[in-house]
Amino acid sequence: MEFTIKTAKQQEVININSQIEEIVSKSGVKNGICIVYTPHSSISLLINENADPNIFDDILKTLDHLIPLHDNYKHDRIDNNAAAHIKTSIIGSTSETIPIKDGKLQLGQWQNVFLSEFDGPRERRVIVNIIKS
Ligand code: ZN
Repeated sequence: MEFTIKTAKQQEVININSQIEEIVSKSGVKNGICIVYTPHSSISLLINENADPNIFDDILKTLDHLIPLHDNYKHDRIDNNAAAHIKTSIIGSTSETIPIKDGKLQLGQWQNVFLSEFDGPRERRVIVNIIKS
């Protein structure tokens, strides 16, 4: 199954946990593995804290500090978004694997799954595969 997210900003972090939980619930799988994948090269998936949204301001600020938007990157001559690709590569996550137990994602109390946009606004696909064990 899959769903789409329309990002609204050049950079932003969006909580996609409820969409994933809905797919897990509809699958009827009680025990197994949930694989979340996104077929894009300028976004990342993150599992991180769900309590304080300021953490994502801090993460984006830190990435911006490490990776300026433009720094004479070679790829900017192609489509002007090298910084987005570098951020995606540093976070290094186009997929996440989450165990399912008793029909629930086994995330920690303070964890959710997020999509981090680095080259928006765009429409992004998120693919969710569930494997029963
Ligand atoms: Zn590019």
